[in-house]
Amino acid sequence: MANANQKYVVVGAGPVGSLAALYAAKRGYQVEIYELRSDLRDPSTTPLNFTKSINLALSERGINAMRHADHEKLIQHIFSATIPMRGRMIHGRNPDGELYEAAQDYDIHGRTIYAVDRAGLNKRLLDILDDMPNVKFFFNHKLTGADFKRRKAWFESRDQTTTSNRPTEIEIDFDLMIGADGAHSAVRYHLMKYTRMNYSQEYIDTLWCEFQIEPNDSPTDRGVKSKFRISPNHLHIWPGKEFMFIAIPSDDGSFTCTLFMPGSEFAALEADPSKLPAFFDSHFPGVTALITPQELISSFETNPHLPLISIKCRPYHYSSSVVILGDAAHAMVPFYGQGMNAGLEDVRILFSTLDKYAAAENNDPVNSGINDAAFQRAIALNEYSTLRVADAHAINDLALQNYVEMRASVLSRVYRVRKFLEEF
Ligand code: FAD
Repeated sequence: MANANQKYVVVGAGPVGSLAALYAAKRGYQVEIYELRSDLRDPSTTPLNFTKSINLALSERGINAMRHADHEKLIQHIFSATIPMRGRMIHGRNPDGELYEAAQDYDIHGRTIYAVDRAGLNKRLLDILDDMPNVKFFFNHKLTGADFKRRKAWFESRDQTTTSNRPTEIEIDFDLMIGADGAHSAVRYHLMKYTRMNYSQEYIDTLWCEFQIEPNDSPTDRGVKSKFRISPNHLHIWPGKEFMFIAIPSDDGSFTCTLFMPGSEFAALEADPSKLPAFFDSHFPGVTALITPQELISSFETNPHLPLISIKCRPYHYSSSVVILGDAAHAMVPFYGQGMNAGLEDVRILFSTLDKYAAAENNDPVNSGINDAAFQRAIALNEYSTLRVADAHAINDLALQNYVEMRASVLSRVYRVRKFLEEF
């Protein structure tokens, strides 16, 4: 197979890089994956803060990209650890002080999105890649330099050290480098030196911190024993105008929860975390019945308070030698639940564009002069970049807008429905 003579190097073994490696391997390329960190499946080397993972909403956009990977076990493997979420569950307190829950389905036909553990999904993709003979992994390798004209790149190998205990630098060559190395992408940084890239980034004034609702270990009040303490088939939201608390179900009956709040509010509570339970009672009613005040304080003190960045750039490629995907190309705020989904979709669209021009060699009379793989790839990457920039920027904007929808507008919808029912 002609593709076997070409080397595709993927930088970053996150969900997007792993899926890109699978697409490339299925097409017969020699695939090398370079990842800064150790193998996240190896508990002896992976730092706790990396194995500890956020739960994500996986939607049709991402599922479709995995379906098109054309691997018979992938979808089944991924779906073995997902939970369908058919809508939002809005939590609040009535003016008379009573707690309420209001379900808002996503789809009148009952179609759902799925809760998935990001590290779990990532591990499953890596397991599948392990079985492919044309894929090689290089964990603990950090991209430090790239020459996209000569198609060479340099990595610091943390597995090997020099006599002075410094990491060894290795030089590699490649036909195509796929940069899937996240929001602070080194591939993007080097790409900027080869193309007139427009770039903008914005940190929004919101930080996030993770909490956990533990599984139920006693029968519920209806006498039905369920491991879930609230509905497992909803994405739970406690909206709070300036703040928001959400909970996404996990396979083991727990919920991974995220607090989103302006930096100044975090600072005030950091100064005196003992105020946290009262803060939750006032803004997120009912949560302290699910997470004890001690657990709330301990998670707030232990878990990092992390920023949210939104990145736009264009183009996503240079010539035939490099393209960036996923967060490296378009990190977005998480409120539309589409960051990873859009990154997985990048992979599908990139390879369908590459396939189109690879096929043109023999079949397309208009492009019959194109028979050099690098030339075809350059045309494909240019088309990919043109197509994808507009869509990715739109998803980025929608994600920013949806923060207002999730933390405030959902409430007005609940009030409107309740008022209607009262008057009815
Ligand atoms: P990453 O997951 O960041 O992976 C990049 C990889 O590159 C990492 O493994 C890193 O170690 C490696 N790397 C970095 N630098 C180098 C280097 N120099 N050399 C070699 N390797 C390197 N998305 C959704 O679709 N749905 C959701 O519900 C959702 N919820 C979210 C909630 C929160 C709180 C956050 C923060 C994000 C959420 N997202 C969601 C977004 C999602 O997490 C990201 O879009 C997704 O992880 C991006 O995947 P990626 O593979 O592009 O990048």
